[in-house]
Amino acid sequence: MRLFKKRPYISLQKTEAQNGPQVPDGMFEKCPNCQRPIYVKSLGKSRRCPNCHYTFRISAQERLAITIDAGTFNEWNSKVKTVNPLDFPDYENKITKTQAKTGLTEAVLTGEAQINGHKTAIGIMDSHFIMGSMGQAVGEKITRLFEKALEKELPVVLFTASGGARMQEGIFSLMQMAKTSAAIKRFSDKGLFYLTVLTDPTTGGVTASFAMEGDIILAEPGSLVGFAGKRVIEQTIKASLPDDFQLAETVMKNGFIDQIIEREKLKQVIASLIDMHSYSDEKEGERYE
Ligand SMILES: [Zn+2]
Repeated sequence: MRLFKKRPYISLQKTEAQNGPQVPDGMFEKCPNCQRPIYVKSLGKSRRCPNCHYTFRISAQERLAITIDAGTFNEWNSKVKTVNPLDFPDYENKITKTQAKTGLTEAVLTGEAQINGHKTAIGIMDSHFIMGSMGQAVGEKITRLFEKALEKELPVVLFTASGGARMQEGIFSLMQMAKTSAAIKRFSDKGLFYLTVLTDPTTGGVTASFAMEGDIILAEPGSLVGFAGKRVIEQTIKASLPDDFQLAETVMKNGFIDQIIEREKLKQVIASLIDMHSYSDEKEGERYE
């Protein structure tokens, strides 16, 4: 009978690896791009791999901190609630768990802030929240972001990060593509400025709607930007695709992105672009002097 019992002395014996030098948890992180272990401190504030220059995915809160002037953020529509329109099993539970994990109510954070002193409406998607997928709540928050920005005559800066539509919400999720696009059209018709920054990954329904509707479209280096996934396309066309397929750099070569900007320079570039596209009486005065 003792044959199948756990023998305690085995687990008490130290293995060779345990006797060797110990590395504290969280000191190193593996770069998803070049696969090398990176000393966390060497990633710096902008979380960039010193080896291959890939910029790590960051949370909406981290993005907010490196983008806006400290203490200027005023959140909008934090009470927009996610519902379960198709009674998808375990969906509510998944949402509650993800909310606790990320500190966000949904996959997009929206509000008003200042960027180098310029008042801006800002939206930041977070890929850690069910892969930044767009359901009704995300679509609603983005629509309201444009409606309020229109009312206040503010430019909109939107950071995209998404795996696409929220599977659990089916057709309701797909409807958000048309809804957000219509809001952007109304905003754009008033001559207001919309800037998108595509971050890793921007795919699916988000690419097919508001991500690609910016007046200017920027992207972070090495970001995955596409509609359908590489594997899906390969299986459909029965051919293999090159390694740089759907990399922001390749997408830019094909004319879908205006410029790729490194994370360290993004804030300054965004501020300059808002400045160039803003109208004020003061500026008008300068023009005619
Ligand atoms: Zn790397």
